[in-house]
Amino acid sequence: SAARLDAINAVIAYQAPSPTWTAAEAPGEVFGRNVFTKAVMQKRLPKAVFRSVMATIEKQMPLDPAVADAVASAMKDWALEMGATHYAHVFYPLTHSTAEKHDSFFEPDGEGGSIAEFAGKTLVQGEPDASSFPNGGLRSTFEARGYTGWDVTSPAYVLENQNGMTLCIPTVFVSMTGDALDHKTPLLRSQAAMARQAARVLKLFGHDEPGTIVSYAGPEQEYFLLDRHFFLSRPDLLNAGRTLFGAKPPKGQEFDDHYFGAVPDRVLAFMLHAERELFKLGIPAKTRHNEVAPGQFEIAPMFEASNLAADHQQLLMVTMKKVAREHGLELLFHEKPFVGVNGSGKHVNFSFGSSTVGNLLLPGDTPHENAQFLVFCAAVIRAVHKYGGLLRASVASATNDHRLGANEAPPAIISIFLGDQLADVFDQVAKGGATSSKEKGTMTIGVDTLPVLPTDPGDRNRTSPFAFTGNRFEFRAPGSMQSIASPVYTINTIVTEALDHIATELENRVEAGEDFNHAVQKVLEQIITDHGAVVFNGDGYSEQWQVEAEARGLKNLRTTMDALPEVVSPEAVELFSRYGIFSERELHSRYDIAVEQYELSVAVEARLTIEIAKTSILPAAIRYQTLLAQNVVALREAGMEADTALLQTVSAPIAALRAGITALKKAVFEDAPHEPEAAAFYARDVLLPAMDVVRTAADELETLVADDLWPLATYQEMLFIR
Ligand code: ADP
Ligand code: MG
Repeated sequence: SAARLDAINAVIAYQAPSPTWTAAEAPGEVFGRNVFTKAVMQKRLPKAVFRSVMATIEKQMPLDPAVADAVASAMKDWALEMGATHYAHVFYPLTHSTAEKHDSFFEPDGEGGSIAEFAGKTLVQGEPDASSFPNGGLRSTFEARGYTGWDVTSPAYVLENQNGMTLCIPTVFVSMTGDALDHKTPLLRSQAAMARQAARVLKLFGHDEPGTIVSYAGPEQEYFLLDRHFFLSRPDLLNAGRTLFGAKPPKGQEFDDHYFGAVPDRVLAFMLHAERELFKLGIPAKTRHNEVAPGQFEIAPMFEASNLAADHQQLLMVTMKKVAREHGLELLFHEKPFVGVNGSGKHVNFSFGSSTVGNLLLPGDTPHENAQFLVFCAAVIRAVHKYGGLLRASVASATNDHRLGANEAPPAIISIFLGDQLADVFDQVAKGGATSSKEKGTMTIGVDTLPVLPTDPGDRNRTSPFAFTGNRFEFRAPGSMQSIASPVYTINTIVTEALDHIATELENRVEAGEDFNHAVQKVLEQIITDHGAVVFNGDGYSEQWQVEAEARGLKNLRTTMDALPEVVSPEAVELFSRYGIFSERELHSRYDIAVEQYELSVAVEARLTIEIAKTSILPAAIRYQTLLAQNVVALREAGMEADTALLQTVSAPIAALRAGITALKKAVFEDAPHEPEAAAFYARDVLLPAMDVVRTAADELETLVADDLWPLATYQEMLFIR
């Protein structure tokens, strides 16, 4: 069709924007340039104030109101010098996006001019009218205000735009009653809870002052890039972020010729530009490469304390999308934009420790260090076994459902890959404790050393959702579009419970006069016996694992609606409230929001499916059918024999498409229940299959209808033309 040709011609005519890079913007020069860093604070704040702020950051506490004015004033001066005219409290509501409320620094001075104002209380607290953010019933409509409060552990920064600068302050977002309405609040709460329990365990290992233990996260972000002309020509991509139609192209990813291939020039220009912007914001973008699917790429920043990593990850997504547009590209974060080629995930690499004790998931050189390493590893094993359902729920979304378990991403069954060597060590520990004499091949903690474990094992098991990779665990199930906050606070919380359990066991045993090494041995043995079932080193994609996992009693929560109830189970309520991460109210609000988002997201796609099928695909197919029919008539008039086979071939999917549209319309507009939970199950069980029927007929038509009549950009065009 004309629209498709126009799009292709526009791509051919593409002119790269002139480079924005100048020598003054060498990567080393720009890193952190737009950030109100510790170094900037040290230079601009009185010594006592600076020390107070640092202590606050180190202990992950709210800012002392006594120093707020001084900090605000220094921050304002810095921002004004950078060219900022406005400031914004940036927060992370329970959507996929980041929210900002902007205010001007300038207020009338009463004499016809203006004066820049920014008091401590404006820095520390904001009051956005937040009635349109999801709150799951936590705020009644007459009290629509939410409160934002600066999270001192995440530095303020200046966001550039061609037409001005804005000072951005990362904040938590809570209701008047203090209930969490965002992703950041539970993450901060979970960091604090973990720090407390980890300190108890470390004390037993002789670390009286281990520093504040935090978790670290390094998210690997996958995404697709396509020319914006194609993107804009597809209402499904524009509105739902994924294609709801599209026949499989003759060439897909089967040649593996894209993975780690040379990055195309236009894409490289975008990456370099985007990374420079990320550097300015202090985001340590580190690796970039082509991914498996055509048009798919990955970026991974260096890991950071997970609270900061989560904020940076959100900022990274916004920045990448913006810069892509400057290069005429649209960046898709959706987990499955194209059926038949790989989808996108966001692997969250996870460890914990502090600058004092280092990484607690790094095997050490001495038996003592190794015992400590095994204890922290065992905590993760217990946590993932006990609360695998919660981990699954932390990555549940309508969009991620298209990817999990599709043999390109881990299955919905949550298991742990340890690698043969570490699995063997745990086996021996279990056995060693079971026998009083030291048999050959068994190990006793505190006596033997661990075999030297490679810190970067070569044999990566890519089919495991939760894999040990030498000095960290990699959680591979998170979706490419989601915030990393919910997987991270879930891991933090379940590990907190395990550390609490271990600390209590060890404390009791030592108090009763047991030798410490023996106590460690016993506790490890118990954990492996009780929770070893979660360890699986085999092929997570295989059919057989589904059967075996069930026999092991592991949950297989295939869809979002199977997983979400985990969040409000009695065990979850007990767990999250015990450590002060969520109250029962807060958990229920999150459940309600997630259910509603699932339902809305499928419903939008269903309506889009109807619209596109009715107004684009069916008309094109009928035009072609008419041409064929006219051809038959013309041939007969000319006295020739007319073969109607093709006409019949085309007419069958046209009839199927019509019937499919009618059925889907009825399902969406007449039969759908109104109660949110029922509507969500209905979306999964009725709407998605009904959409599939429409798509199957449409995709068949795409392979039959004359190419010049076909209205939608094809997979081939979107994935390969750049
Ligand atoms: P791969 O593709 O081999 O898994 P990448 O280099 O793409 O590895 O990404 C690895 C990610 O893991 C990076 O973000 C990196 O900073 C992060 N990472 C490395 N060590 C740790 C650690 N100890 N804790 C958390 N994340 C880590
Ligand atoms: Mg990677």
